[in-house]
Amino acid sequence: MSQETVAIIIGAGPAGIATSACLNLLSIPNIVLEREDCIASLWKKKSYDRLKLHLAKQYCQLPHLSFPSHFPTFVPKNMFVQYLDSYVSRFNVNPLYNRSVESASREDGEKWRVAARNAGSSEMEVFEGKFLVVATGENSDGFVPKVLGLEGFGGEVVHSSEYDNGKRYSGKDVLVVGCGNSGIEIAYDLVNYGARVAISIRSPVNILTKEMVQFGMSLLKFLPCNVVDKMFQTLIKFKYGDLSHYGLQTPSEGPFYLKATTGQSPVIDVGTMEKIKTGDIQVFQSITSIKGDIIEFTSGQTSRFQAIVFATGYKSTVRKWLKDDGGLFNEDGMPKKRAPNHWKGENGMYCVGFARKGLIGIANDAQKVANDIRLILRQQEGRCVF
Ligand SMILES: Cc1cc2nc3c(=O)[nH]c(=O)nc-3n(C[C@H](O)[C@H](O)[C@H](O)COP(=O)(O)OP(=O)(O)OC[C@H]3O[C@@H](n4cnc5c(N)ncnc54)[C@H](O)[C@@H]3O)c2cc1C
Repeated sequence: MSQETVAIIIGAGPAGIATSACLNLLSIPNIVLEREDCIASLWKKKSYDRLKLHLAKQYCQLPHLSFPSHFPTFVPKNMFVQYLDSYVSRFNVNPLYNRSVESASREDGEKWRVAARNAGSSEMEVFEGKFLVVATGENSDGFVPKVLGLEGFGGEVVHSSEYDNGKRYSGKDVLVVGCGNSGIEIAYDLVNYGARVAISIRSPVNILTKEMVQFGMSLLKFLPCNVVDKMFQTLIKFKYGDLSHYGLQTPSEGPFYLKATTGQSPVIDVGTMEKIKTGDIQVFQSITSIKGDIIEFTSGQTSRFQAIVFATGYKSTVRKWLKDDGGLFNEDGMPKKRAPNHWKGENGMYCVGFARKGLIGIANDAQKVANDIRLILRQQEGRCVF
């Protein structure tokens, strides 16, 4: 027995619920399948307590619903979750929870067939639809790199998605690996909880404050990216001085060019730079190996640690379950084409939330996908479309 619908959406994060809301507004039947027991599991279960949206609120809202005016410019996680909960009620988005999709394939050249394991009954359930929307996220599973000797490390090892706050690390020597937005903020959080903290940084980073990013994004409406980048590269030097004194390298490309061309976000300084300058956070290069509780870095330095937090990012898991990729995804489970041509594949397949543009990219993709599905349905019904 299978359940039939028009569009099957996999994932009930911001991308999945936004797509379902847009389809509901167009009266197009859809089913949302979610492996967890709630919407937005990344925000509700897999992010640290002090997280706020890194971008100003006008760049983070989903289609058809603005943030309430009393929300602060940089919305804290719990308020963002409130907003998402009210979003699903308002647009009547009703995901089927505890459904982990194990395969999606094209059947008879006509429809998509999705098999999902029901975590409650352990039964496999089958769903069929004309359209398939992949909304499982760029951040589906935490990624921990292979490190020589990691399995023999005696202390605690967690991924940033398992870190809530630094309470239990008070008084401990903790190494944070990775200097993206999670790593830099977790390092700061740990210091505030009384841990002795070091951060291992592999690549050059552009570091800005939230306010600088907000200002830069508003300038980009009027000025070309290279002009805005030049201004910000000067501003970064003015604000932080020569970061190489503290073991940090800055890329030759500016923050907004890198975001637009590679999807790599600038790193938002939440107070971490001051802690690095005062020596409260030590900076090391990449790890070369671990022997017991001693970690060695590429610089040749060694140090003892009692815990490691890997803030080394996430991976798309699309390749694990998607049997026919509709020409859309590469080997890493990311779109083959770059934004803005990334969202539509063949045979009614779409993806939402894979533009490397955060929530603003999700809002754009969701509306494009819903409108495209409406157009195709209308064309198939032989109706005139204006
Ligand atoms: C710590 C952190 C902070 C961020 N802050 C910002 C920010 O400030 N501003 C911004 O614009 N962006 C931010 N982002 C980036 C991005 O906006 C978020 O990651 C956002 O949650 C992405 O939404 P999504 O729906 O695409 O993916 P997700 O939120 O990851 O949702 C995907 C859903 O799919 C489900 N799923 C996965 N596989 C399956 C399966 N096989 N079967 C069924 N369900 C499945 C997952 O359980 C999950 O609920 C942040 C990301 C992280 C990690």
